[in-house]
Amino acid sequence: MIKTDCHLHSTFSTDGSSDMESEILRAIELGLTSICFTEHNDYGTNADGSFVVDTPAYHDRLMRLSEKYTGQIEILYGVEAGLQPSDDIFGYFDRYLSENDFDFIIGSSHVVNNKDPYYPVFFEAYPDDDAAYRAYFEEELENARIYDNYDSYGHLDYIVRYGKTGNTFFTYEKYAYVLDRLLHEIISHGKCIEINSAGFRKDMGYANPHTDIVKRYHELGGLPPTIGSDAHNVSDMAADFDKVEAILREAGYDSYSIFRKRARYELPL
Ligand SMILES: [Zn+2]
Ligand SMILES: [Zn+2]
Repeated sequence: MIKTDCHLHSTFSTDGSSDMESEILRAIELGLTSICFTEHNDYGTNADGSFVVDTPAYHDRLMRLSEKYTGQIEILYGVEAGLQPSDDIFGYFDRYLSENDFDFIIGSSHVVNNKDPYYPVFFEAYPDDDAAYRAYFEEELENARIYDNYDSYGHLDYIVRYGKTGNTFFTYEKYAYVLDRLLHEIISHGKCIEINSAGFRKDMGYANPHTDIVKRYHELGGLPPTIGSDAHNVSDMAADFDKVEAILREAGYDSYSIFRKRARYELPL
């Protein structure tokens, strides 16, 4: 069974709605052995400074709560870094990550050309969803090719949640030309991918990325994935982890990865 949730947002994230302590209590109630908070830091994306965590306040609260609940649950200190192929942004994260003692870094693509697919206007820049999806994967490839200061690449096919056609026409095979190169870059840099169970809550019928991408990652020699619910509130924590376990087994894994002080550990399913 999966007993850890390594992708969690609390009110330290701009879009988080549950307090950190209530999430810890929920994790204990669920019988989890470890959780990792991964608050947003999308430096360089929003002019108003949103989605950049107040790191000192986040660190302080997490350390106090970690001590309070010692012996009941392991609480890990992580961040979800919004990756974009830019010297300014990569330079910022290199400094930021060297100055902060994180356990775990999820690298995620939330934008393409610094535009957010969450907003429908994003897709107006492309002739169709297919072109937008290709641009997204190509930008992920660029990130993975030139930057490796992260531990696990988050929700690789995140953009498919937002297109007008959603995942209706989305298959691994259609994008294999870029996805195989992307997986190769991630694997050859010794990084993991994440299986993000939010896909089930977005009515995709699978986690992110698509099960066929997880299978291909395994075929190419990928390390056991990290697992996260991407919960922004207590009710989504560890959601659909039974289905994620089935995906892992179907892809050929009997373990998954977690990180402490940026070092990888494997836990059995
Ligand atoms: Zn994300
Ligand atoms: Zn997230």
